[in-house]
Amino acid sequence: MFRGNLFVLSGPSGVGKDAILERVLRIVPNLVKSISYTTRPKRPGEEDGKNYFFVNEEKFKEMIDKEEFLEWAVVHGYLYGTPKKMVEDYISKGVDVILKIDVQGGINVKRIFSDAKLVFVLPPDFNELKRRLINRETEDLQDLNIRLKNAPLEISKISYYDYAVVNDNLDEAVDVVRCIIYAERHRLCKEKVEHFLRIFGGVKDEGSKY
Ligand code: 5GP
Repeated sequence: MFRGNLFVLSGPSGVGKDAILERVLRIVPNLVKSISYTTRPKRPGEEDGKNYFFVNEEKFKEMIDKEEFLEWAVVHGYLYGTPKKMVEDYISKGVDVILKIDVQGGINVKRIFSDAKLVFVLPPDFNELKRRLINRETEDLQDLNIRLKNAPLEISKISYYDYAVVNDNLDEAVDVVRCIIYAERHRLCKEKVEHFLRIFGGVKDEGSKY
């Protein structure tokens, strides 16, 4: 059994990361989403332990001190963090994990797990992003403006990412993310090469890149 893969899904607020992730999780087996901790207030319809673990700043800072986060960041004025243990437990059991986190988090995860695959979701254009964010009616005007102002800053970090997916059509975006996950699952690595050679009695070629 091989270790699970780690995927990161980032992109500006309102781009459709949740919609893509929800569908991908339904159709891709052996894939789980990490549930982050946040100090952001719960939105109507959100559930503690399902969308996020909603905690106060004191609890969050205690978790930072105890090094319970794989990464954490201030995003749009609130604290968000990925629980380390949950991610490591799944990966060591061979389950793939996907993190829906911001660009600071994505870059930090890549520093720790160089094999992590970072996927950036883009809107077709800025006006469409604005329209989607306004239509979902989950933020007050102040939060909405912060998110719109932060969008170009997040996009400016795209060069740290491995894949770009333009979410013009949800079905297509879901399909592309699904294909990325399957392609990465089939990527060769030293352990896999050795496994296949062992099974079929082959010997590693001298010129092997593994
Ligand atoms: P929202 O409040 O809209 O659910 O999320 C706001 C932003 O925080 C999104 O870009 C989301 O991906 C990011 N985010 C959610 N959880 C985490 C986390 O654990 N770490 C980091 N760095 N960002 C996160």
